[in-house]
Amino acid sequence: MFRVGLGHDRHRIVAGSPLILGGVAIPWDRRLDGHSDADIVLHALTDALLGAVAAGDIGDHFPNTDPQWRGAASVQFVAAALRIVDQAGFEIANVDITIHAEAPKLMAWKTQIATSIAGILNVPDDAVNVKAKTAEGLGPVGRLEALDADAIVLVTRKRAG
Ligand code: MG
Repeated sequence: MFRVGLGHDRHRIVAGSPLILGGVAIPWDRRLDGHSDADIVLHALTDALLGAVAAGDIGDHFPNTDPQWRGAASVQFVAAALRIVDQAGFEIANVDITIHAEAPKLMAWKTQIATSIAGILNVPDDAVNVKAKTAEGLGPVGRLEALDADAIVLVTRKRAG
């Protein structure tokens, strides 16, 4: 039995550092603005995990009005979503992610980000794929106003015992 979940996130680019994508600090002179560490990859992944088991969204579980989550490492959100998936009786089959970034260039970082995510999820490296795309200068991503991330997760029902 299979279930699929989809996630998307966007945060505004601002001056400063660090830029954290999938739990990896990427060298850049800009970062993402946000209530937590603004890791769009892990936020999209959290929503995808919750979506796969019909458990709502990241805002239901980690409201940004709650000071407890101020500056929180988004790894905590993924870990909590993973527990919800586990308690629902499912395990991850695979994860596919697209990061939309006009800059910085992520070609050299895709594998490291995928490995980081596999570690966070405790799945084999080949169960996680990370892609990076530019926006051809168009829209908020193309104008360097924002970075976007999409995530999709397939989960399978755990075998009894
Ligand atoms: Mg977010």
